[in-house]
Amino acid sequence: MKTAIYPGSFDPVTYGHIDIIERASQIVDKLVIGVLFNSSKTALFSVEERVKMLKEVTKHLPNVEVTDFSGMLVDFAEANDARIIVRGLRAVSDFEYEKQWAQANRSLKPQLDTIFLVTNAQYSYISSSAVRELTRFKCDTSLFVPPFVEQMLLDKIKMEDAKNEQN
Ligand code: ADP
Repeated sequence: MKTAIYPGSFDPVTYGHIDIIERASQIVDKLVIGVLFNSSKTALFSVEERVKMLKEVTKHLPNVEVTDFSGMLVDFAEANDARIIVRGLRAVSDFEYEKQWAQANRSLKPQLDTIFLVTNAQYSYISSSAVRELTRFKCDTSLFVPPFVEQMLLDKIKMEDAKNEQN
């Protein structure tokens, strides 16, 4: 059984991520999405919220699992019996960073290989950070994220606004 992991912050998950997930899930037997809990990085959504949105947007894919993880990616791969890491490539600017990690991970665990899926042109400009920025300025994000995620973004901003008004 070929298992792959697809790690990321997914803060929030976008149509670009979903495209990679759908395509990767057709190549492997099982795809485990690892939602990174990173205590040093301040995320808009908690790891629980990010797992929830990923479960919702992948519920049509029977061989996809979603779970959170922290610590080393190579350990997460091993714990899931995965020998493949999936990453998406949008532009040359992604490449240097991704190459460095692919090589570092492989030197830590030689049985681990990273495969890159090149983004569909229609999604290549989409990033989670752009979605967060657009949401803060109350712009429409429906071209970037599915309706379920868009609603979570709107709820989050409403909550933040209410908190700011109190202070
Ligand atoms: P990280 O925080 O590690 O950068 P992200 O959550 O931003 O992770 O992204 C996870 C993975 O999805 C990365 O491999 C990234 O290159 C890829 N990715 C992000 N946005 C897109 C997109 N629009 N199209 C294709 N791949 C994407």
